[in-house]
Amino acid sequence: MNSLSSELIIFNSKTKQKEKFVPIKEGFVGMYVCGPTVYSKVHLGNLRTFLSFDLINRYLKHLGYKVRYVRNITDAGHITDDSGNEHDRIGNQSKLEKIEPMEVVQKYTVYFHSILDTFNAIPPDVEPTATGHIVEQIEATQKLIENGYAYESNGSVYFDVLKYNQEHNYGELSNRNIEELIANTRELDGQSEKKNPQDFALWKKAAPEHIMKWNSPWGKGFPGWHLECTVMSCKYLGETFDIHGGGMDLKFPHHECELAQGKASTGKNPVNYWMHANMLTLNGQKMSKSTGNSILPDELLSGNNSLFNKAYDPMVVKFFLYQAHYRSVLDLSQDALDASEKGFNRLMNALETLNQIEAKESSTIDINNWKEECYKAMNDDFNSPILIAKLFDATKFINSIKDGKDSLNQEDLDELKTTMNVFVFDILGLQATSNSDSKHLNLVMQILIDMRNHARNQKNWELSDDIRNRLTEAGIVLKDGKNETSFGFD
Ligand code: AMP
Ligand code: ZN
Repeated sequence: MNSLSSELIIFNSKTKQKEKFVPIKEGFVGMYVCGPTVYSKVHLGNLRTFLSFDLINRYLKHLGYKVRYVRNITDAGHITDDSGNEHDRIGNQSKLEKIEPMEVVQKYTVYFHSILDTFNAIPPDVEPTATGHIVEQIEATQKLIENGYAYESNGSVYFDVLKYNQEHNYGELSNRNIEELIANTRELDGQSEKKNPQDFALWKKAAPEHIMKWNSPWGKGFPGWHLECTVMSCKYLGETFDIHGGGMDLKFPHHECELAQGKASTGKNPVNYWMHANMLTLNGQKMSKSTGNSILPDELLSGNNSLFNKAYDPMVVKFFLYQAHYRSVLDLSQDALDASEKGFNRLMNALETLNQIEAKESSTIDINNWKEECYKAMNDDFNSPILIAKLFDATKFINSIKDGKDSLNQEDLDELKTTMNVFVFDILGLQATSNSDSKHLNLVMQILIDMRNHARNQKNWELSDDIRNRLTEAGIVLKDGKNETSFGFD
């Protein structure tokens, strides 16, 4: 274990406080993060949350913990949206695309994996699916009925929120009050089979036309979304585990329900540290597929979108995301991405310069102090923007060493190189190679765009069309804006 691991502080969204991190078993961490519902392509907001937990996973591993990181794939299950409406998202998408539900699941799981790979995220250690754990979900439902916290109604099984609240506190995670929740709930059609509108489905009866359904003691049906995470986290991490994460919007009802299910089934508190990543916004509004206010990662990387006038490298996008703390809201904009691109290039250039620096007799910079500050930032609830500020401090002193204004002895120079590499590549998970590729591509494209503009100014349409057509053949599309021409990929 790294000696600095004892100083890790985590903001626990349940207690709303920063707490010293003490794992259940010394040296080990169990972490569960809610994965995507694979009925559509993950958007950049979803990606932000998954990359936030990639950073956390990487840092815990760096500190020397043996982490078991579990992130599920929701490939079946009953979903309730923010307004309390019930949808079977995968079933609906399969009708829309006229393909089997499992084809929907496969298509969007493949996309999800390929995007995370493009952004150099470490895959989880276990990636369980809801459909692979139907038996466990049926068993968990039976147990909740036996414990008196659930009831069957018309082929569906519901969690009895009021019963649970007699002994426990429903709303303890999201700070909600059950009486207020009940008062604010509209009575919706089809909910009358519940004792109370706040009760949520553990098992849902399937209509005859429903494709993804399974036999159960209550007839043919499918499991509830909240139950899947309770069952899979318990199976792979135990009845009580260290960290449970997800986006802020999952706190209620999803995580509140998970917490209630866990306590009602085992009598134990299922999670020690709840961690919630904040939202990525676009034009100041939460990025969300259902409202259409979203952009896909591949649209941003290819430049093939109507929001930005150029393509961005995945590492620039990742760097942009980490320039905000995971608990802060972050807005995606062209200016912010351009600034991150400059910053990322500055950092990569400094790393190249660092390799050319030679050691001197003595040091004029306190490297150990700087290194400690880097760890301090990450130990303070994974504060990546402060860490990045420290890395920028390093780029400044690397340049002043190059200019002969400062110096490092061999030991300090080695320490600086190792620490920079550890934080930039192992912990932030950035990659250098794609940076120089995209830098060169942008430069070459600017030359071609300038040549085409020159040809157009001279009314040499043959040459200007030839440049455009040959680029199109190569899969690169020129977009003529009011004042400038940008490019994207087909
Ligand atoms: P879903 O597939 O909708 O369950 O979303 C997958 C993950 O992305 C969840 O942890 C969500 O909380 C998270 N998420 C959804 N929208 C955003 C957003 N705009 N910014 C950050 N995370 C988000
Ligand atoms: Zn979940």
